[in-house]
Amino acid sequence: MYQQPLPLEYQNLDEATLHTRIQEAKAKLGSKLVVLGHHYQRDSIIEHADVRGDSFKLAKYAAANPESEYIVFCGVHFMAESADILTTDHQKVILPNLAAGCSMADMANLFQVRSAWKQIHEIIDGSTVIPVTYINSAANLKAFVGEHNGTVCTSTNAPTAVQWALGQGDKVFFFPDQHLGRNTGVRLGYDPDSEMIVWDPFKPLGGNTRESILSAKFILWKGHCSVHKRFTVEQINQARERNPGVKVLVHPECELEVVRAADLNGSTEYILDQITQSEPGSVWAVGTEINLVNRLANELKDKTIFCLDEQICPCSTMYRIHPSFLLWTLENLIAGNVVNQVIVPEKTKELALQSLQRMLTVCA
Ligand code: SF4
Repeated sequence: MYQQPLPLEYQNLDEATLHTRIQEAKAKLGSKLVVLGHHYQRDSIIEHADVRGDSFKLAKYAAANPESEYIVFCGVHFMAESADILTTDHQKVILPNLAAGCSMADMANLFQVRSAWKQIHEIIDGSTVIPVTYINSAANLKAFVGEHNGTVCTSTNAPTAVQWALGQGDKVFFFPDQHLGRNTGVRLGYDPDSEMIVWDPFKPLGGNTRESILSAKFILWKGHCSVHKRFTVEQINQARERNPGVKVLVHPECELEVVRAADLNGSTEYILDQITQSEPGSVWAVGTEINLVNRLANELKDKTIFCLDEQICPCSTMYRIHPSFLLWTLENLIAGNVVNQVIVPEKTKELALQSLQRMLTVCA
């Protein structure tokens, strides 16, 4: 998405000025505005968030508060799209910086997925494939899934969603994150070597043979999260050597061997719950985005919490939401200009809503 350059007067404001003006703008907009902050946002954004959460929790919050006309979503593009799909027509969803995409979501586009779907169906002849898309995907992929009787899933409910899909058909076509798909399949008892294949959109038949496509239970899109892919088994071993008694907790977007080596794995909200509810004095090595890990470490001082990766790496696209962009969007709202509104086209919205509602029904 193209982001117009910030006007000059917003480019060199110091932190204190940004903070004060954002607070003043929020006060002026009152209950017409809600600022949503994803857990991976920097602290200088989170301090202005009315609600913090993962993408689905935030989108549901916006939908449950129709009095908020302006939903300023401090997250990435697919999250703002999901909020637009779930909210009413009079609510406007705004992404402060349109360049805040998600590298994983960008690894699968509609053209590629349609092409894969066609190639798979030319081979499987009579078998049923159910598409499952991770919520970290573009709205038009959610619409594709809605149109083909599949479901959306989150990292929390992926096992339930995939189990449901396997009850509806012979195979699951899971995109865009191969790791969440593989980890979910393994958790449900499937063999990653004999029952799962990876679909590379840049190769004929996704880089597979006809036989492997016919025998696979899981067709996993070749996508990944650039943040969670950084965590390794070596880091886990090192954390254990240096910190006897440490508990290792990772996100299921990590690779299978990392998830297997960890003590626990689960979604962002699961990570938060586990650590928050743990005994004082407990020690946690966490494999997820650094802003969340650092915030937990600062807020829960009775525990030792650190990131598995010493070469700390934030999600670079989440990081594009800078307070100066937030201020620019808010002050424009006060002036009567809605900038950076994310609008999902009606037909796409209708079909995407079907796949999201299916998830809500299946995973209730
Ligand atoms: S952490 Fe990974 S999945 Fe989440 S927004 Fe960043 S690149 Fe996308």
